[in-house]
Amino acid sequence: MKIICVGRNYSEHIKELNNSSNENPVIFLKPETAVITGKLPFFIPDFSNEIHHEVEIVIRINKTGKNIEERFANRYYDDVTVGIDFTARDLQTELKSKGLPWELAKSFDGSAPFGSFIGKSEAFQNGAISFSLKKNGETVQSGNTTDMLFSIDFIISFVSRFITLKKGDLIFTGTPKGVAAVKKGDTLEGFIGDKKLIDLKVR
Ligand code: MG
Repeated sequence: MKIICVGRNYSEHIKELNNSSNENPVIFLKPETAVITGKLPFFIPDFSNEIHHEVEIVIRINKTGKNIEERFANRYYDDVTVGIDFTARDLQTELKSKGLPWELAKSFDGSAPFGSFIGKSEAFQNGAISFSLKKNGETVQSGNTTDMLFSIDFIISFVSRFITLKKGDLIFTGTPKGVAAVKKGDTLEGFIGDKKLIDLKVR
């Protein structure tokens, strides 16, 4: 199983980090050890003083695919949830400033928790998915897939030109604005619509 992530997919988030938008999706990977299983908390790693939450729609690939045409891409996933693309922003900023790959700022242990999956038909309302993140009970990020620069189907098609998708692979599809640092003791809750799919403690 692999975790494929899309960066810079919502224009308001691109602005808040002073990034520029791209012609093609920005893609990076996280390893299987980035998953948090069961009811375990997220532990802030010792190499960072600035771990940001990025709430994202996550889809689960349901069969092998290579060079998938965009018009058939929706056949390659059935289930959707929200996940948190935890990012060591201080490390990422340092690596970016040196022109180096920022993989380690994204791929560390526990950096890809995700919630319970629901069916596509439940997640999409009128052709779009709305989602949000609460921190300590207060909504800090909310997004809608209609604001994506690259749609889910386009992402599936684009990635599959380079990387064969396999059953069980996850795609994190990018975060809307509102990213911010977490601290010990925080509670993060992620929603699709008003359905809570993930409930995570920060330790
Ligand atoms: Mg992200």
